[in-house]
Formats: sequence, C-alpha cells, structure tokens
Amino acid sequence: MFSAPSGGGKSTVIQEVMRQKVNEYQYSLSATTRAPRGNEVDGTDYFFLTRDEFFKRRDANEFLEWAVVHGNYYATPRKAIEKSIADKQIILLDIDVQGGIEVKKQLGDEAFLIFLAPPSMQSLETRLRNRKTDSDEIIKGRLSAAFDEMKYAKEYDSIIINDKLEDTIKQVLSEIDKKINEL
Ligand code: ADP
Ligand code: 5GP
Repeated sequence: MFSAPSGGGKSTVIQEVMRQKVNEYQYSLSATTRAPRGNEVDGTDYFFLTRDEFFKRRDANEFLEWAVVHGNYYATPRKAIEKSIADKQIILLDIDVQGGIEVKKQLGDEAFLIFLAPPSMQSLETRLRNRKTDSDEIIKGRLSAAFDEMKYAKEYDSIIINDKLEDTIKQVLSEIDKKINEL
C-alpha cells in the first residue's frame, strides 16, 4: 500500500511499478465520490460513484475501508483485495494515511505500508504547482494537510524519500521483494 501527502508521487510511482510488473502486480481500483479530473476514466482511474451509490455499497459491507479525504469519500472495494490474497497475488493500493492504517489493522502481515515522502516541503509545493491539476487554494489546503499526514509516517513499514524517481522505483521493488521473501 502506498500513502503520501498529495503530490508525494503515489500515482507516478504506482504507474511506473505497474508498467514494469505488467501481468504480475494488480492495482486496487478505489471508489470515490469526487468528480473525474482531466482525462480520468470511470473504471480505469476510479469507480466514480454518486454519494447515494457510495453509501449503499458501504452499508452493504462492500468496502474494506472508507474515509473522507479532502472533502470527498474514498473506499477500497473488498472483493479484489480478498481475491488477490486468496490467489497469492500482489495488489497495490493508493490510499490515504487513515485508510492505510485501517487496512493494516485488518490484514496484519498480509499488508505492507510504504510511505512516500517528498524530499522537502518546497519540492512538494513545486510538484503540486507543476502538476497543474489544482487551484492555488486547493494547493494551500493540501500543503497544510501534508504536515499532519507526515506524522503518520512512523506507523508505516517503510518510508521512502521520493527524490529521484528511478531510485524510488528501485527501492520500492526491492522492498516488495524483501517482504515477499519474508512471508
Ligand atoms: P500523488 O499521486 O501522490 O498526489 P503525483 O504522482 O501526482 O502525486 O505526483 C505529483 C507531481 O510530482 C506530478 O506532476 C509528478 O509528475 C511529479 N513527481 C512525482 N515523483 C517525482 C519525482 N521523483 N521527481 C520529480 N517529480 C515527481
Ligand atoms: P486523489 O483525489 O488526488 O486521486 O486522491 C486523494 C487522496 O485519496 C490520496 O491521498 C489518495 O491516496 C486517497 N485515496 C485514494 N483511494 C483511496 C481509498 O480507496 N481509500 C482511502 N482511504 N484513500 C484513498
């Protein structure tokens, strides 16, 4: 599972790991009530749900965990995770800190939590601005949330500083291999 403050590099790192491990690793597609951004596609980037649909599924116990992040609801569908565990497959999750800790609580040793930390708050701000997906106000909110999120890092199995992308990917793959060998 990958958590990081917004802009910490989760999507970028997961995309690259999935590219290198295509047909090997799976990706857990989350449900969310937030609107699609840019060219995001339903069923590829997220399951985009109305609030009614989200609550219906949550109440039917279809989610392993759910949380409110930056004002929207997010959840991890239970079925895909349970299937991956039963099939002894690796499934990557892009998840906020509350969700990551909740999944770890439920899955114990089956879960491995990686926290991606930006090299500095300044570089986090620059990356958020360069991404050009959020307004100035949203970026300010995300930067202040980042301070709180970083406090959870110590609960994680591994903290990786996402400085040079290539090094981050190498470190991520090596940590996952190490974890598999321990199981
Ligand atoms: P998150 O999914 O955690 O919100 P993103 O993957 O969208 O973060 O990354 C935020 C921005 O930072 C993107 O524009 C991305 O291209 C850039 N980025 C991610 N990792 C690195 C890195 N190691 N070096 C430089 N830029 C990076
Ligand atoms: P974004 O809307 O930028 O894609 O994601 C916002 C935040 O929601 C990120 O911190 C991301 O990790 C988190 N997130 C995405 N999917 C889930 C999920 O299924 N559960 C939880 N708890 N957080 C999620």
